[in-house]
Amino acid sequence: MERYDIAIVGSGPAGLSAALNAKIRNKSFIIFGHKDLSNKLIKAPKINNYLGFYGSNGSELKDMFLEHINKMGIKITEERVNNIYAMGDYFALMVNDKMYEATSVILATGMEYNKPIKGEVELLGKGVGYCATCDAPLYRDKVVSIVGYNKEAEEEAKYVSELASKVYYVPMYKDNYDIGENVEVIEEKPVEIIGEGKVSSLKLQNTELQTDGVFVLKDSISPGQLVPGLEIVDGHINVDREMKTNISGCFAAGDCVGKPYQYIKSAGEGNIAALSAVKYIDSLKNK
Ligand SMILES: Cc1cc2nc3c(=O)[nH]c(=O)nc-3n(C[C@H](O)[C@H](O)[C@H](O)COP(=O)(O)OP(=O)(O)OC[C@H]3O[C@@H](n4cnc5c(N)ncnc54)[C@H](O)[C@@H]3O)c2cc1C
Repeated sequence: MERYDIAIVGSGPAGLSAALNAKIRNKSFIIFGHKDLSNKLIKAPKINNYLGFYGSNGSELKDMFLEHINKMGIKITEERVNNIYAMGDYFALMVNDKMYEATSVILATGMEYNKPIKGEVELLGKGVGYCATCDAPLYRDKVVSIVGYNKEAEEEAKYVSELASKVYYVPMYKDNYDIGENVEVIEEKPVEIIGEGKVSSLKLQNTELQTDGVFVLKDSISPGQLVPGLEIVDGHINVDREMKTNISGCFAAGDCVGKPYQYIKSAGEGNIAALSAVKYIDSLKNK
């Protein structure tokens, strides 16, 4: 299996800027994310604080970012990283049923503004999950509820509906849902995930769904969940000025390390994180 020098998790401005600098420094790397780069980017109506791009909207900035990485031959691997384990001198990144290896990792996963649903944290792994496609086989012929924060969650709902006996889809956004026939859409806010030791129901504003599993599908999962052992302070990854975390070889950049939440700060930190990762890799090679 190829072991990359750097694995970059996230394709927002922090991750992309890290990728550019890894490329310039001639390191082997893989960057995980999606083709639209970042939902937060495409949503921005007008961006006047990104130097050099006065008056652009998020979608225009996204196109310029894409053109830039395409010209530099950088390809985004459209996969979601579910867990990252520090193995000593390398990291194992789990992606559904696949695994990738890298000597260093840059976390650029952005920030999830939504608070967890009541019961979500307590019942995580006991019927609550963050990756429907990974865990779908556990719910064969069972009832599954999916709380989807973005359009990609619709794909996961479709896939789960091929195995589960019943799928409820609770969208946290307004749109036309492309969801398949056997999925029931319920447009109500979730209030609480209920269960004694394991999930039994999902309470919504007006309804209570009897369910065996609840998948909460957000843009990013909390970094502490993603990387066991990672030091978190006030909901953000703790880093120093070199963007080093408490785990040797693991760096972080962008919204996930703290405020202010801004594009250019994220890009700047991605740059630092990549250069620090390069320094780390070179120091191992010179040992
Ligand atoms: C409506 C709106 C308007 C804004 N306007 C401005 C503005 O005018 N100026 C400004 O400076 N800032 C603005 N911001 C803030 C800006 O969007 C963020 O600061 C910036 O996007 C943060 O960049 P990032 O790279 O840290 O993370 P993000 O842009 O959030 O990107 C993170 C990426 O990582 C991916 N990811 C997360 N976890 C995983 C995983 N496990 N596996 C694979 N991929 C993963 C996500 O899907 C996402 O694509 C605005 C935000 C919003 C919502």
